[in-house]
Amino acid sequence: MEAPNLASQLGRRVLVITPNSTEQAEKLLTLLKTGSAEVAAAIAVGGEPQVEKVLEGAHLARECKCDLVIGFGGGSAIDTGKAIAALLTNPGDIYDYLEVIGRGSPLTKPSAPFIAIPTTAGTGSEVTRNAVLASRNHEVKISLRSPWMLPTAAVIDPELTYTVPPDVTANTGMDALSQIIEPFVSNQSNPMTDAVCREGIRLAASALQTVYADGKNKQAREKMCLVSLFGGIALANAKLGAVHGFAGPIGGMFPVPHGAICARLLPVVMETNLTALLSRQPEHPVIERFAEISQMLTTRPDASAEDGIHWLQRLEQEINIKPLSDYGVTDTAFPDIIKYAGNASSMKGNPIQLTEKELYSILEKAI
Ligand code: NAD
Repeated sequence: MEAPNLASQLGRRVLVITPNSTEQAEKLLTLLKTGSAEVAAAIAVGGEPQVEKVLEGAHLARECKCDLVIGFGGGSAIDTGKAIAALLTNPGDIYDYLEVIGRGSPLTKPSAPFIAIPTTAGTGSEVTRNAVLASRNHEVKISLRSPWMLPTAAVIDPELTYTVPPDVTANTGMDALSQIIEPFVSNQSNPMTDAVCREGIRLAASALQTVYADGKNKQAREKMCLVSLFGGIALANAKLGAVHGFAGPIGGMFPVPHGAICARLLPVVMETNLTALLSRQPEHPVIERFAEISQMLTTRPDASAEDGIHWLQRLEQEINIKPLSDYGVTDTAFPDIIKYAGNASSMKGNPIQLTEKELYSILEKAI
């Protein structure tokens, strides 16, 4: 694996972030001993990344005089590491920099060198410029965001994803798929993101069911790692949409895995966006893209926009995506979810501004 070499080039004392102790994490720590950079400290991240964990990690990294951070794991471990690397070099308090619940000031210094090693195929966080953090006190998930936060290096090894269980494979895979569909219909799409989205949608359509049914399928795992990587590139350059606009508030208020929210919302948001566009902006060029997505998903050149939405609904059943009510989401929370989603940066990429009634109906269908 490339990690020891890269670490030796980028630092002397490393803080490693891993998911709750896994065999793979032990292997990484052993492997790093073969390089010249010393593992000075390690912390485990269980569940979604919390502001408090970042503060703990940044304190530990300073105490241990770390000059390099490695985030090994799913998006939770990577985002925790990314935020710690940013705090290592930037003065002051994390709330100086957090958006929505903090002052949202820009970082003034490049983050400490940071190596991202994803072990799930979903978030693409290894190539994005933000870390999504949950704040228990505020019951929201918000971003620490800066061009300085792009990881210094990313090591993407599909074999690391072989052990991801089917439910996490399904959720993370649907997160990846939503991150190449939303930028493709985003109002900030561009020819570069269009190209990676098109390739990513085709790859996901050919691999998602397979990785769910057969987690050790080499080709399918490889494809999903690419979908995740492409999603990260696409979202960082073209924004997302209502799926991710909702995902932050719902994930902050309820213990729902990020991918599970995206999975459940994706077909509903696509259907709502399409209906809204057809009725209010029937000449909008993005309408054609919904049909193109369908043709890529179904591999049928004559597929209509609606066929793609039905394909996604069938996929959801096949890979056992659960309604959000199974995680405790109730309609009493809808007004707050809608209020917070309105401020989310992702919502600004949605191809059409949705009405409150439409937003409410998306949530009703998803729970
Ligand atoms: P995750 O990191 O929370 O991991 C999900 C579960 O899988 C955890 O229990 C983890 O321990 C386990 N796991 C990870 N790798 C494994 C492996 N190889 N084998 C077995 N189990 C493994 O989930 P995720 O979906 O990868 O990340 C979600 C987080 O990423 C959310 O907080 C979300 O908001 C964030 N996110 C960030 C960005 C970004 O650009 N920064 C983009 C999308 C999502």
